[in-house]
Amino acid sequence: MKQLDDAAAVIAFDPAVFEILRHPQRTVETTFPVKMDDGASRIFSGYRVQYSNARGPYKGGIRYHPAVDMDEVMALAFWMTIKTAVVNVPFGGGKGGVTVDPKKLSLGERERMTRAFIRSIDDIIGSKKDVPAPDVGTGPEEMAWIADEVSRLRGVADPGVVTGKPIEAGGSEGRNKATAQGGMYALQAIRAAGDVPSPARVAVQGFGNAGQWIARLLAEGGDLVVGVSDSKGGIIKEDGLDVAAVTSHKEATGSVAGFPGAKTVTNAELLTGERDILVPSALENQITAENAPRLRAKLILELANGPTTPEADAILRERGIIVIPDVLANAGGVAVSYLEWEQNRTGAHWPESEVLERLATIMSEATVAVRERALRYGVDFRRAAFILALERLSEAIKSKGWV
Ligand code: GLU
Repeated sequence: MKQLDDAAAVIAFDPAVFEILRHPQRTVETTFPVKMDDGASRIFSGYRVQYSNARGPYKGGIRYHPAVDMDEVMALAFWMTIKTAVVNVPFGGGKGGVTVDPKKLSLGERERMTRAFIRSIDDIIGSKKDVPAPDVGTGPEEMAWIADEVSRLRGVADPGVVTGKPIEAGGSEGRNKATAQGGMYALQAIRAAGDVPSPARVAVQGFGNAGQWIARLLAEGGDLVVGVSDSKGGIIKEDGLDVAAVTSHKEATGSVAGFPGAKTVTNAELLTGERDILVPSALENQITAENAPRLRAKLILELANGPTTPEADAILRERGIIVIPDVLANAGGVAVSYLEWEQNRTGAHWPESEVLERLATIMSEATVAVRERALRYGVDFRRAAFILALERLSEAIKSKGWV
């Protein structure tokens, strides 16, 4: 809400539109029992927030994490509303989650829990209503179960009810790398503005889907990935990490920590080291008023949702550190979700080259539009992105006669 206020302070928006965007349209909280492997049943809490469908069906991922609660899901659903507007895909914003550590579930438990959660929200999702996708702690496997569960419940195959599916279950080429690839396109367009050297020295916080892919793509592009971390620890190698080897190490051991030949560091050290580009790719609220004064990056590419607190954001602005905000930087994920949904509507399957070409166009149009607002209003890229989204949301809300 602070980010919304910041953008609205720059230009005048209809207060009635504003009031609509301050409230989620629907919030749903469910509990559902799951049979665990030991025979006992356990109750889980699930959430789905349908923040806005002003621009199209609600859209957003499902998160499995112990910290998931209504507050977090609501914030993430709000950001989806902004994000889909920034990249101009015909969706609104939503988000879901289950409060659970998925690493502590067996494969069977994870499948039964996913199916049970979907049954608990089945009446509110649909390819023309609300389309889930992966987020932290979920991936293609869960999306395939979701599509299957919905088709069992309804007796119709409707793969567009969820995106981020495996290729063989109606997924799109390029969806797995989409978040990072979209971030690369935005970075390429903005990087020069930040006086960032090439090759740049990069640190990536978080080594899930987005973090692994961005490390790989940056290294392939000639930058030097000197540090990465995950929830279990961080590693630094000043002359550059072999990203493929780190990925294999994580697959084998469950963490990047302990990678041979690298120095072990804390998350704090990873964030504040001497880097040109910092890529937070994990959770919210990582760059705070406490560490923002000590960051030594020239540019921050926010692949995570909400990694920077509003207080930290003000400090970064003052310090002249360029921030490519989450609602632009990580929008490649939902952009390719849109392309997947579009393919599902017609039964098409496009080659990766076509998907990436369309993604590049979506991202470059969005980046150009954000930069144009930044220059026009003399604001940072986050406020510029929010202004762009507010323009598009206002038009949709007004054209529908909601205000
Ligand atoms: N969870 C991703 C995000 O936060 C993807 C959402 C989607 O594809 O719908 O943007």
